[in-house]
Amino acid sequence: MTTHMEIAILGAGFAGLGMAIQLKRRGVRDFVVFERASEVGGTWRDNTYPGCACDIKSDLYSFSFAPNPDWTHKYARQPEILAYLKATTDRFEVRPHLRLGHEMQRAEWDAGVALWRIQTSGGEYTARVLISGHGPLIQPKWPDIPGLNSFQGQKFHSARWDHSVDLTGRRVAVIGTGASAIQFVPEVQQLAGQLTVFQRTAPWIMPRMDHPTSEGRRRLFRRFPLLQRLQRQWLFGVAEARFLSFTHERFRAAAESIGRRHLEAQVSDPTLRAQLTPTYRAGCKRILVSDDYYPALTQPNVDLVTDAIREVRGNRLVTQGGQEREFDVLIGGTGFDATHPPVASIIFGTGGRSLAQAWRPHMEALHGTTVAGFPNLFLIVGPNTALGHNSIVYIAEAQIAYILHALSYLDASGLAALEPIPQAQAAYNAALQEKLARSVWVQGGCTSYYLDDTGRNSTLWPERASRFRRTLRRFNPALYWGLLSPERPPPLLTHPRAAK
Ligand SMILES: Cc1cc2nc3c(=O)[nH]c(=O)nc-3n(C[C@H](O)[C@H](O)[C@H](O)COP(=O)(O)OP(=O)(O)OC[C@H]3O[C@@H](n4cnc5c(N)ncnc54)[C@H](O)[C@@H]3O)c2cc1C
Repeated sequence: MTTHMEIAILGAGFAGLGMAIQLKRRGVRDFVVFERASEVGGTWRDNTYPGCACDIKSDLYSFSFAPNPDWTHKYARQPEILAYLKATTDRFEVRPHLRLGHEMQRAEWDAGVALWRIQTSGGEYTARVLISGHGPLIQPKWPDIPGLNSFQGQKFHSARWDHSVDLTGRRVAVIGTGASAIQFVPEVQQLAGQLTVFQRTAPWIMPRMDHPTSEGRRRLFRRFPLLQRLQRQWLFGVAEARFLSFTHERFRAAAESIGRRHLEAQVSDPTLRAQLTPTYRAGCKRILVSDDYYPALTQPNVDLVTDAIREVRGNRLVTQGGQEREFDVLIGGTGFDATHPPVASIIFGTGGRSLAQAWRPHMEALHGTTVAGFPNLFLIVGPNTALGHNSIVYIAEAQIAYILHALSYLDASGLAALEPIPQAQAAYNAALQEKLARSVWVQGGCTSYYLDDTGRNSTLWPERASRFRRTLRRFNPALYWGLLSPERPPPLLTHPRAAK
């Protein structure tokens, strides 16, 4: 049996939930959210490693329409963000629309009836509109090291932390020194007998200055929500100002000087300090914030190895220099594949072409949201929407507003479907790439997960976050082709006032 829904949303992370809530607030009832896991939360459900927390301050890293006065720290820990997402799901009564344990296996555009035919592990559906909040950092990445798969000790990736493995007194190897690793290394250091951190590139790390929030502040924000909104605006402004360090040499040099002073203050050993000094421009890779990573590396039970790993033999890691080290546990802190989203191989547009094919060699979209050849498909946190300096939730909300404009336009025009004109998509991306080609992310002397196999930056938005919102403020039908249907389709949106 096939169930029809006007709108199908994929994923119950910030993006999918945010979309569902906005539909709900407009009185839309005819939608579902497919989520393969058994609970909402996305990133914040899957990443449970010790020390996991956001690195954008929580008053900003949250939905604009659902401020949380009760954050216990400036940077909330993973369990608290997950609890926030669950509570927000309940508060906006999204649960009846959730289809948990429903993995989307295939979605195919049927041009004959102008519908998406969707196969999930929980049954078959059709939908007029498919909105994908599949997640930008969903696919854990391991380095290509001979023998890694046959490591004879215990091995797991930070995004799939194996809590059954007791690290107490063990010989632990960590590969990678990115955003996740710098959060869990200080925690692992306290348990491990011996911890060896394998570093390919030293990250730029700035002071975090995290602290618990006071009960007084929480009470104040509960009583006067406007104060928290002002705080959010302030944090947003500060984050936007940080963008200058990506574009202006003077500000970049200042950021680098702060990073170097932070390192000097925390690491006195000149050899270790030299190993930890980045060799590329700040901003080229994600700039990290931590106050406990450098101190953890100075502990007597920790070694930092900068020699590349050549191979894994049994339970030994062999470096290029021929040194062998034996371990009980191997932890991958090697991040995610951000340029080959798995969802692209299961979405098929006009003519049966998959999104993965359309995205060879580069993934691209119009406004990071719509893709030529894929009618009525909307992506949230799609290509070139990620930020190095501000909250992704802000970007997702801008895209959600844009999608609502597009759905309104569909309703007003009576069109069955919309897709971007290829030339419009190409022109938009040519302009983005021109900016990116001159940017620190491409010219800064590093390789990073922002870049695809060809060295093109297909993940980051190259401007301030507010510019993204401004660009998407209006839906411009001139950039789109419309598909007519013999009968006027039922409306997708209900006017908020009519819904009450
Ligand atoms: C450890 C970590 C820390 C981070 N910290 C920050 C931060 O401080 N600030 C910031 O701006 N960003 C941060 N990010 C980026 C983060 O990914 C985003 O901020 C945000 O959580 C993304 O939300 P999302 O809903 O787009 O994706 P996700 O949270 O990844 O949710 C995607 C959902 O889609 C589901 N899904 C995917 N494919 C399918 C399928 N085929 N069928 C059914 N369901 C499917 C997944 O199970 C998942 O629940 C962090 C990322 C990580 C990994």
